[in-house]
Amino acid sequence: CKRVTILGVPFLHATKQETVELLTRRIVDNKKTQVVTANPEIVMMGRQHPSYLNLLRRAEVVTPDGIGVVLASRWIGEPLPERVAGYELLHALMVQADTYGWKYMLVGASPESSAGAAETLKKQYPNACYSGHFDGYFSKEEEKNILDHIKRERPHLLFVALGAPRQEEWIARHLPDLPVNLAMGVGGSFDVLSG
Ligand code: UDP
Repeated sequence: CKRVTILGVPFLHATKQETVELLTRRIVDNKKTQVVTANPEIVMMGRQHPSYLNLLRRAEVVTPDGIGVVLASRWIGEPLPERVAGYELLHALMVQADTYGWKYMLVGASPESSAGAAETLKKQYPNACYSGHFDGYFSKEEEKNILDHIKRERPHLLFVALGAPRQEEWIARHLPDLPVNLAMGVGGSFDVLSG
């Protein structure tokens, strides 16, 4: 698929619908995918930190999260079709999870937000298979417990709300050892879902 590189970050050239179709195909084909919904702040972090830029370059799918990124693509003469934001992509993937009966898990945010987000998603997507949530303020020992839980549950979707850049780094570090199809950082989405 076509990519448009902005300040070293390779963005997927796709509409939201096309992005969801591509991700669905990757899940059905059992391919591991780290999704980064990159806003201008994330792009700038990549400029400041070469290791983070490397992570962004290695992620399987990077989407333009914000009109600023879409505008930048127009300025360089390679226009991206539209904004593909994290919160919207989360819901679009949950629609697929509801259709196909995929398992999903949540890691991150405060205990209240994490639990609240789980309740909202369970209600909104009753045919998707909820397989647990953990808050984002965990110790090393608690982290091991989270990773063990993920290994037992083998969720198709893992949503991680630890804020950027921590969520992307956490996913990049652990995804290779985890039986998860798709992992995506979702920033403040659990706070919104639980609100
Ligand atoms: N968070 C967390 N653990 C941390 C730091 C942050 O779980 O150690 C959560 C925080 O509670 C919030 C989310 O990460 O729900 C970050 O939201 P924010 O809006 O700051 O992220 P952004 O959308 O700016 O990446």
